[in-house]
Amino acid sequence: MKFSITKSISSKINSVDWKNLGFGKYLSDHVFIADYSNGSWQNARIEPYAPMPIEPAMVTLHYAQTIFEGLKAFRNVNGGINIFRPDKNAERMATSGKLICIPEIPKEIFVEGCKELAKIDHAWVPKEQGHSLYLRPLIYGSDNFLGVHASSSYRFIIMSSPVALYYSEGLNPVKIQVCTDRVRAVRGGLGSAKAGANYAASLYAGTRAKKDGYAQVLWLDGVTHEIVDEVGAMNIFFVINGKLITPTLDQETILAGVTRDSVIHIAKKMGWSLEERIIKMEEIVQAYKDGKLEEVFGTGTAAVISPVGQLHYGDLKMVVNNNKIGKISQKLYDTITGIQYGSIEDSFGWNVKIDA
Ligand SMILES: *Cc1c(COP(=O)(O)O)cnc(C)c1O
Repeated sequence: MKFSITKSISSKINSVDWKNLGFGKYLSDHVFIADYSNGSWQNARIEPYAPMPIEPAMVTLHYAQTIFEGLKAFRNVNGGINIFRPDKNAERMATSGKLICIPEIPKEIFVEGCKELAKIDHAWVPKEQGHSLYLRPLIYGSDNFLGVHASSSYRFIIMSSPVALYYSEGLNPVKIQVCTDRVRAVRGGLGSAKAGANYAASLYAGTRAKKDGYAQVLWLDGVTHEIVDEVGAMNIFFVINGKLITPTLDQETILAGVTRDSVIHIAKKMGWSLEERIIKMEEIVQAYKDGKLEEVFGTGTAAVISPVGQLHYGDLKMVVNNNKIGKISQKLYDTITGIQYGSIEDSFGWNVKIDA
């Protein structure tokens, strides 16, 4: 793949407070961009990160024809940089795009773009354990018109941000509210796409839950409000009576997380028993009452593993594992981050390495 590079004449890196990175607060010096027009992706390039002029009629501002991705580059303990499973994110972006009529970005452009951006902005990949360079690929329809139809032109951008762990609590268990009135996604909708529209749909209940002192909501299905979907913007796992259980992707209301997939691979390798299937809230409640709800955790790129210490469902306040991180959650966190930082052998071949 051929692309041009325009280097930034100055760097913003000296303004970074590395002790207080937060999540997505700082953006690195460059972006990778490719444009789609006349039926093909073209003009791939690296440019300085800068404002982009848009017209008021730009279609995505009105009709949300946009999808995104999230993945991370890690400073390897032995030098160099590891990007964690970018091929999986490229595949998922193609899948997301289908549901929203966004043309597929070739895997080669996606993965090379991530590598080249991490290479040119290598100084932005934090050295501290637990920190990383978050890569944010984005595609949006860029036509200017007010009629409702799929755009004919698109822009693909990868930006990046040095980040700390997503939850300031780190691996401390969070308090979650089971949401029984609003829904994130329904069968036949966009739930299996990483689409901005899903986030718009989640803001009301998420904001309400935060006001009530919760970290996030647990989403149930849109029809019966009985089936467990996801937790915030993470996939969810339960450990019940020694068995790892997670909602099936078959309902197409759930985003197929790369972290979820990594957990499943590790669980199988460890020989743990694991089920992907429909999980109803009544089963969780019963397990809790029987003293068999051993662990609950969310999985996602930002936090890797986020233990749930309290799950509030109506009047029922379930406390999980004494509000402490469980053994399986800890083991998974250590294994995944160990592979990402290169301190544990990458036996699955997940890291894409860059010398920088
Ligand atoms: C991104 C995302 C996840 C987690 O996916 P990862 O690839 O593990 O980061 C889960 N659910 C939703 C709704 C998401 O947007």
